[in-house]
Amino acid sequence: KEELNIIQGALELRTKTVEDVLTPLSDCYMLSSDAVLDFCTMSDVMQSGFTRIPVYENERSNIVDILFVKDLAFVDPDDCTPLKTITQFYKHPMHCVFSDTKLDVMLEEFKRGKSHLAVVQRVNSEGEGDPFYEVMGIVTLEDVIEEIIKSEIVDE
Ligand code: ADP
Repeated sequence: KEELNIIQGALELRTKTVEDVLTPLSDCYMLSSDAVLDFCTMSDVMQSGFTRIPVYENERSNIVDILFVKDLAFVDPDDCTPLKTITQFYKHPMHCVFSDTKLDVMLEEFKRGKSHLAVVQRVNSEGEGDPFYEVMGIVTLEDVIEEIIKSEIVDE
């Protein structure tokens, strides 16, 4: 029964898209690029429990960097280091994908290993003005794997 479920989940990777499994932007835990890494911010980051944290400039839909929590290993909260100092030092590449990317393609991209988190965007051509890229949320390897095994992976 379990195996059958997994096989079905694997087959559906070809039809389902990133949009079906993403974490919407409104649910993302993020930091503003002008944040300061004081005790308050750092303990908030630790408490969030996430490994990677998108960093936005001015508005949440404008993701400009990804902070890895491990980047904070050498940061002393007493120094009140600006977040920008850390993101500019590590400069993790940001991986963007379109919302209609099929999950099998997404899985291959994650397997290639650049990053296991991608920012999901779509072309918004509604309304009067020119079409523009709109960030919808984030997707990680875990979201794709959950789709294969068809059950939630409870975080540590
Ligand atoms: P982590 O290693 O941070 O626990 P995972 O890659 O295991 O992240 O993903 C677990 C779930 O949490 C996925 O559904 C993913 O979309 C979501 N997720 C990952 N990072 C964040 C974040 N910064 N804010 C909100 N949700 C996130």
